[in-house]
Amino acid sequence: MRDFSNHATNRPPERDVEITDIETAVVEGNFEWNLVKVHTNAGVTGIGESYRGGTVTDIMEYTKRFLVGENPLDPERIFRRIVQDMSGHGGTTGKVVTAASGIEIACWDIMGKVLDVPVYQLLGGKYRDEVRIYCDCHAGEAFETEAGYVAHHDEEVYQPKAYAEEAARVADMGFTALKFDLDMDMDNHPDPYNGRISNRAMQRKVDIVEAVRETIGYDIDLAFDVHWDYSLDSAKRIARKMEPYDLMWLEDVVPPENMDAQREVARATGVPLATGENRFRVHEFKDLLYDFGVDVITPDPSTCGGLAESKAIANRAEENYIAFSPHNVCSPIGTMACVHLGACIPNFDVLEYHALEVDWWDDLHTSDPLIEDGYIEVPEKPGLGIDLDEDIVEEHLLKGESGFS
Ligand code: MG
Repeated sequence: MRDFSNHATNRPPERDVEITDIETAVVEGNFEWNLVKVHTNAGVTGIGESYRGGTVTDIMEYTKRFLVGENPLDPERIFRRIVQDMSGHGGTTGKVVTAASGIEIACWDIMGKVLDVPVYQLLGGKYRDEVRIYCDCHAGEAFETEAGYVAHHDEEVYQPKAYAEEAARVADMGFTALKFDLDMDMDNHPDPYNGRISNRAMQRKVDIVEAVRETIGYDIDLAFDVHWDYSLDSAKRIARKMEPYDLMWLEDVVPPENMDAQREVARATGVPLATGENRFRVHEFKDLLYDFGVDVITPDPSTCGGLAESKAIANRAEENYIAFSPHNVCSPIGTMACVHLGACIPNFDVLEYHALEVDWWDDLHTSDPLIEDGYIEVPEKPGLGIDLDEDIVEEHLLKGESGFS
């Protein structure tokens, strides 16, 4: 086993920093937001966020055993140390990488604060002063989760008119790019397991896309997500049916395990395909990018390995002239981490915003509302440039969570 602890100790005192504690809090938004604070002996604390999932914060807390005393100014090495040291507890992908992602982000925040520069500067500098946002929209009523499962409403809610009305409402808010889910329970009849689409369900999808396009026109970018639902033949059929509507992309058409099937869909259609939110580290993106199975890559930085790993994925995408549009269902903390990333990547296109229905999303931080006219300005403050409102964190803690001290 390789030892990724600190063997390079020759540093001036102002950068000879040590991690002193790691704390977590789970905030219940429309998703569970796994927040982490990394404390240091340098008078600064870093904030980060990991993607949702039970026990992710337990893994983060466990890393205290070997991260206390480590120098947080080595986020890439710290990330490798966590993955290496925890591999006996969760493997080299999966939740260990998700947990390490939030800590890595917090380390970049610390480094920015110690060196007095914004994170984008540390990641190589910026291409843009603001990052374009696409808004995840829901027809009728938004998804709700009940006992950890997504609850769908009845078929009446998901009519083309409801999608079109919501698209118009959100476009009027200033967003220049929108995304809707295009997969509902009733589309999986008569068989919920085999992934084949019926003609009726296909027509429903076409009617929805047509209604939205008729309402918002073609100046607004428009994507649809089908969450890995379909068999190869159905995926090809759906993609071809989408071709007249000039989509920004069609997301996650076939299950994620088989790269060859994904590539087959890409070969069969001219509609841009996006995928990547459930993959970990550069290795799980390699075939997708180098075999051209995707047109827009959508890693989640709070899942796949943090900011450096996401940048490495984006660089490989750039090599193949593939756009990079991060998946993001985070609180403002993880979102701001993505903003710094988006600023410094040439092939960045749009960043997801998935909290339209959470009216206290912007209350979680102490800055002005982040999104203005569909863009987030890249902050110039040191680190991530965002601070938590601790009272709001406390108010929305997941039941049973103790939160930050
Ligand atoms: Mg998705």
